[in-house]
Amino acid sequence: MSLTKRDSRHIWHPLTQHKTAQEPLGLVRAEGALLYDEEDNSYVDGIASWYTAMYGHCHPYIIQQVTAQMKKLDQVVFTGFTHEPAVSLSERLLAILPDNQSRIFFNDNGSTSVEAAIKMALQYFHNLGETKDTLIAFENGFHGDTFGAMSASGLSVYNGPFEKYFLNVERIPPPTENNIDAVLQQLSFLIREGNCAAFLYEPLVQGAAGMKMHDADGLDRILDMCKEAGILCIADEVMTGFGKTANNFASDHLTNKPDMICLSKALTAGLVPMGITSCSDQVFQGFLSDKLEKGFFHAHTYSANPLACAAALAGLDLLDSKEVRQGIEMIGEAHTRFAQGLKDDNRVRDIRQSGVILAFELNVEMERYGNMRNRLYQEFMNRGVFLRPLGNTIYILPPYLIKPEELQRIYTAIKEVIDLF
Ligand SMILES: *Cc1c(COP(=O)(O)O)cnc(C)c1O
Repeated sequence: MSLTKRDSRHIWHPLTQHKTAQEPLGLVRAEGALLYDEEDNSYVDGIASWYTAMYGHCHPYIIQQVTAQMKKLDQVVFTGFTHEPAVSLSERLLAILPDNQSRIFFNDNGSTSVEAAIKMALQYFHNLGETKDTLIAFENGFHGDTFGAMSASGLSVYNGPFEKYFLNVERIPPPTENNIDAVLQQLSFLIREGNCAAFLYEPLVQGAAGMKMHDADGLDRILDMCKEAGILCIADEVMTGFGKTANNFASDHLTNKPDMICLSKALTAGLVPMGITSCSDQVFQGFLSDKLEKGFFHAHTYSANPLACAAALAGLDLLDSKEVRQGIEMIGEAHTRFAQGLKDDNRVRDIRQSGVILAFELNVEMERYGNMRNRLYQEFMNRGVFLRPLGNTIYILPPYLIKPEELQRIYTAIKEVIDLF
């Protein structure tokens, strides 16, 4: 029996309406930027498997480092114990994170890294004896699917059943050159009216919203106002972290440093799940007390799993390597050339780029997960290219070590597919 048939009997897939969904494709292996199905057809992974496998799939160095760790110490409770991979990773991360970051808290995925940051922000003020119960977030943000992260996410079309259980969240539009004054006005109103604990934002690129990009100056002005008001700024760099915007972190493009940063996805080089919430010393100090309950009583069983830490350390080695730096540059330049060629095509609009991320809209209306969008997806797959259009938004976010000819295969497929719509 085929993988697909066996799957269909027992598995409940994420983001899937099983009554109408197409069958999933069985994959058997992956190498570099390529995924292979049961018939050995290859697909270029144009989105690095949701921006995780940035150094390519099954990278021998990462496998070697994780294998070595696996033979030494596999998994251990992280309350009352510590270990070399966690300590090294903290040191290495703090050396490259914005320099006000001072503590690393381990989680096990992106949503929980956000969840921990929200809880830290709320408890920070609680510990100080202040009641601050409101978060500020961008419209159409995405921060994960657990309750706190989901509350803060503005993409709530499918969140109907849960809305009445959400946290208090006020939303502001992402800044543009045109709306920034209005946004700041709205923000100052929220600050005066509300008990705002934190501002949670995806810096510069809103991934799930469709790789929407906003203005760095505008974001800096928003952060200025939040900082001035003592609101904790939480940068959700789960998608943008580790080189996507050409800098290590999107926050590196800004003058204001966040009080907390959420990391996951490429953190562990696409091999094993892990999340991290880092914070400034000021935040950490807010939890120190002779009273036990002022500590942060939040844990995940696999917190700081040694194998995940080893994968992350190997990923940092690669991020620093000449090959990866050159790859980031090569992709950035190739994207710019490709975008140049699309510029005058009236079938597309809003072409935008940040580092290795390139996105644009097709001038055809499509629902986010509708039939037209599914056809678009399938046309790419038929051409051996894995992209996941978000409605009519087509975006590319390839592994840094993708070969130029594989990148070309993506561009060619896009050109051909545009002709069909
Ligand atoms: C993917 C993502 C998350 C959620 O991470 P999971 O590991 O899928 O829970 C949170 N924030 C952003 C910006 C993301 O892109």
